[in-house]
Amino acid sequence: MIDMAVKPKPTLKQLVFLAQNRIEAALNNHGAAKSCVSCSFGKDSMVVLHLVRVYAPDIQVMFNNTGVEYPDTLKFRDRILKEWDLNYTEVHPKKTFWELKDKYGWPDRRFDGKKGQHTVPCYHYLKELPAAEFWAKEKIQLVFDGLTASESHARWMLAYRCGGGPYYYARSIGVYKSHPILDWPADIVGKYIKRYNVLVNPHYTKFPDQRVGCMSCTGFLDWRENMAKAFPAMYRKIQKERGQKLLEEYAAEVSKL
Ligand code: SF4
Repeated sequence: MIDMAVKPKPTLKQLVFLAQNRIEAALNNHGAAKSCVSCSFGKDSMVVLHLVRVYAPDIQVMFNNTGVEYPDTLKFRDRILKEWDLNYTEVHPKKTFWELKDKYGWPDRRFDGKKGQHTVPCYHYLKELPAAEFWAKEKIQLVFDGLTASESHARWMLAYRCGGGPYYYARSIGVYKSHPILDWPADIVGKYIKRYNVLVNPHYTKFPDQRVGCMSCTGFLDWRENMAKAFPAMYRKIQKERGQKLLEEYAAEVSKL
């Protein structure tokens, strides 16, 4: 007989316990002085920062400021720096998003087999390189981040099957990666934030379904809808430059059919 019992969903308490175990194990292996938290000031990053600082309050915190961050994120960063007294470093790319776009084209959803939705040169110059230089300079061995697989089963599979998982050596960048909340669904992240009063980037209050991060990125499936709402002037400018129609122009055409 087939067992039709539905597996119960893990609770907040269980997932916090799992994340704490991952953090403790990683810190025991590398020590807080050779570790850092990579923080984007998004919800998931803030939860990981909150969890890790219980064990290592002075751990280095690195923000990769791509130069195309939402103004809300920068204001939120300033607030957190004031209120959380972080051991903080901000890294910046040597080439701007706009220079990279002129040279390599707009970010798109090409899947390059390694880096998912990022267009390779854009991701490399804006994110990978500044972070790698910082880690090498500070002799960082271990990096915590707020990666979650809740939005995509494919991402979860990729994390576990392609040398990823919650803790692993990322050979291409020469550091260990720890994703303490990899298995957390979005509702558990929300419950943690509420339960522990973690501050949240105001971008989510204005646009609850959107991501924070490069506001000019054209590399995500729903970037048009999101950018048109969050930053309409930039959306119009980008579509004009790309020689493409605006969403409302498509809608007007469809309504005439
Ligand atoms: S999110 Fe988009 S703009 Fe930012 S680094 Fe990745 S591809 Fe480039």
